[in-house]
Amino acid sequence: MTLTLPFDNSYARLPARLFAEQAPTPVAAPRLLALNTELAHELGLDVDQLRSADGIAALAGNAVPDGARPIAQAYAGHQFGNWVPQLGDGRAVLLGELDTPLGRVDLQLKGAGRTPFSRGGDGRAWLGPVLREYLVSEAMHALGIPTTRALTAIATGDAVLREAPFPGAVLTRVARSHIRVGTFQYFAARGDVEALQALTDHVIARHYPQVDGPWGLLDAVIDAQAQLVAKWMSVGFIHGVMNTDNMSVAGDTIDYGPCAFMDAYHPDRVFSSIDQFGRYAYARQPDIAAWNLAQLASSLLPLLGDEAPAIERATAMIHAFPTRFGDHWLALFRAKLGLHTPRDGDADLIGSLLDRMAAGQADFTLTFRGLADGAARSQFSDPAMFDQWAELWNRRRGDDRPDIAPDLDRVNPAIIPRNHRIEEVIQAALADDLAPFHALHAALKTPFTDHPDFREPPAPDEVVQATFCGT
Ligand code: AMP
Ligand code: MG
Ligand code: MG
Repeated sequence: MTLTLPFDNSYARLPARLFAEQAPTPVAAPRLLALNTELAHELGLDVDQLRSADGIAALAGNAVPDGARPIAQAYAGHQFGNWVPQLGDGRAVLLGELDTPLGRVDLQLKGAGRTPFSRGGDGRAWLGPVLREYLVSEAMHALGIPTTRALTAIATGDAVLREAPFPGAVLTRVARSHIRVGTFQYFAARGDVEALQALTDHVIARHYPQVDGPWGLLDAVIDAQAQLVAKWMSVGFIHGVMNTDNMSVAGDTIDYGPCAFMDAYHPDRVFSSIDQFGRYAYARQPDIAAWNLAQLASSLLPLLGDEAPAIERATAMIHAFPTRFGDHWLALFRAKLGLHTPRDGDADLIGSLLDRMAAGQADFTLTFRGLADGAARSQFSDPAMFDQWAELWNRRRGDDRPDIAPDLDRVNPAIIPRNHRIEEVIQAALADDLAPFHALHAALKTPFTDHPDFREPPAPDEVVQATFCGT
């Protein structure tokens, strides 16, 4: 008996040039490494069925479940600002869509073998990045940040050759959709207005049913991204590879490659080993989002009316992004400082803390978490830097100060998936020990609760300087 799921594959019903039919390529010896039972329950899926030999076979790509219509989606994109007319799912296969209590979702196998979009790649993923995406995406979700989710990680029994041979793995990724800015770019660049229209109608029906036409879509995606990037900033998250093909039009965090949460705060922080010029540094993320959204606006132009007034209106919308982002950013950081009612000067107060954190090499997470109990000061190389700021903060809050500690602890996480802990998990998993993975995953489900075992930044010899796209 194969895995039975109630598929309804609306993307596969769109014009055929939006995708390529592609079944996953079977693997040698699938073995379940991790099953996200909580997510399975949220999706209304039968955990025992997923865990059965048939379930594992289906999610490893060894058997196509009934009702699935596996495809690889076409998309283009700007990678580090350079236009690439054809990218597409080179190692991911969309099994199909499911209607669930969480709404319509894609069930995608990442690392499922070569597709017509693989170019020189092997279509595979190895254990390290699969566990990394699993942990970080689930941590993002627990932090309240829109994201793709991880349902299963399955070892393939095949070796994947990177700098050396590594054990292969397949991730089952669940997402509201995998439609990207680059999906629109692909058809716009080909002058395929019919496909662009079909894609636009599909995205509106699926993600933004309340909006009216392509203008409403553009506006909605701009706002979703303004909120999303503000949320990233509020937890010290660096996406690392904000290419237009890695920006979801649904407004979810997607494509966990070289992403990382900062330990010590610095606005110029970069982790990705391939981001030589810091294009995707922490503080540049809002500008890059605006740049990517400008590409979306350009792609939509044939539908917006290719005339000067349309260009002018779309440009004004992009120019308004910093204000929209700034409003979300300010609201989030005000909450992080326990400032419940807005006042002039709040942005300066927040900026002053961040400047001092950068100068004092303060840990981003522990500084904000430590505002509730005064532990923040010990994060600074010179605690007086914090004390001077705390005076301004206290003055801003006035004499009549209720206990805001519980409010602060509700918005300032105690733990994040720190790089050195993820590294540790991967090393253990390579030695067949998944206990550290499960322990970290369990703790990250409740990031606003104290977990002393997962709290600390890396010791000097544990610091991870760079993350790799070496997926
Ligand atoms: P990314 O850097 O993950 O956003 O991927 C950029 C492009 O490279 C996408 O088209 C991917 O599908 C493709 N790609 C990445 N890794 C592989 C791989 N191992 N095999 C085939 N295609 C890949
Ligand atoms: Mg990508
Ligand atoms: Mg990737």
